[in-house]
Amino acid sequence: MPVPKQRHTKSRRNKRRSHHSLKAVKLAVCSKCKEPVLPHQVCVNCGSYKGREVMKVESKIAKKGKKEQHKHDHDHDHNYEHHE
Ligand SMILES: [Zn+2]
Repeated sequence: MPVPKQRHTKSRRNKRRSHHSLKAVKLAVCSKCKEPVLPHQVCVNCGSYKGREVMKVESKIAKKGKKEQHKHDHDHDHNYEHHE
């Protein structure tokens, strides 16, 4: 395994980390529902892109409901294991 030969100074360490900061996510405004959306991506709120509907939002909500059910099932399994 390689071992560092010389200690790096605080200055050198800080200069390296000067590029590590995170920038805030830039948001555009949906032309249909005026909600903030990620640029170049379908609006999650109304499912439109470039002013026309691309996907159905209702189906996405149904999927979320299924996921929650799965979580509940998992919890139940966990409890069952505890009893044994
Ligand atoms: Zn929208």
